[in-house]
Amino acid sequence: MSTCPQTPSFRLEGRRALVTGASRGIGFACAAALAQAGAHVVLAAREARQLEESVFAIRADGGSAEPVLMDVSDPGGVGKVVEGLGEIDILVNNAGIARHAPMIETSVGDFDAVVDVNLRGAYFVSQAVARGMVARGKGGVILSISSQMGHVGGVDRSVYAATKHAIEGMTKSAAIELGPHGIRVNTICPTFIRTPLTEKTFSDAGKSDWIASKIKLGRIAELEDVMGAVVFLASDAAAMITGASLLVDGGWTAG
Ligand code: NAP
Repeated sequence: MSTCPQTPSFRLEGRRALVTGASRGIGFACAAALAQAGAHVVLAAREARQLEESVFAIRADGGSAEPVLMDVSDPGGVGKVVEGLGEIDILVNNAGIARHAPMIETSVGDFDAVVDVNLRGAYFVSQAVARGMVARGKGGVILSISSQMGHVGGVDRSVYAATKHAIEGMTKSAAIELGPHGIRVNTICPTFIRTPLTEKTFSDAGKSDWIASKIKLGRIAELEDVMGAVVFLASDAAAMITGASLLVDGGWTAG
């Protein structure tokens, strides 16, 4: 008699996750998703009040969560905070900012600010967490919330898109180095979602029309659209997936 192959588990009980930029928006949704899948989640951001409200919401939802103050653009501080957290099995690099401007008008200050958080931040948080994972020898998962702008360009987005393309390169290279340690490294690439980051874009009628015209599924993405992707890639159901990029873009980059 044949026996059926069994689907690997999508559950995350017994895992400890760190999500940066988790006080609101996509990071909060990722933290809630991981908690709903059974993980204990450490929510990181710079501003305490919003962070505590989000931790409270996850606990009220039945999840296990704690806050930690962290500025991802300060590698020295990041190293100390990560060390103090103990074992981390899942990292979600989500903290990110945007200072959109025409390429020929971008200031050095705006360039540095975006690179410091989106690239330098994700790089050195990953490094600190990966060092712990390698030392413990139990493997792990590193996910970065990249963007569809990690695969295509966009008007006024040359710096933002540069950081997201760089995250894709970091991910592939880290996947090669960390694979032998059982650490999987992947990105999730959402299309536009309404958050404080995109408020200005959505309030511009021309840009709103541009977004609507590019999404083949005919609707704007919601926070919930990212939640299944983060649970899947964090779980054993994605055990053979590394160095990959999961587009959650409603078909934007399909053409
Ligand atoms: P958001 O609503 O502005 O939230 C950003 C989060 O990052 C907040 O929790 C913020 O908290 C934190 N943060 C900012 N700078 C930080 C720093 N230096 N250190 C630590 N935390 C910091 O943004 P979002 O729209 O959710 O975007 C989250 C990620 O998804 C970003 O990487 C973004 O590029 C990416 N993404 C967004 C969209 C979209 O349409 N929204 C689409 C594709 C990709 P504090 O200010 O308190 O630190």
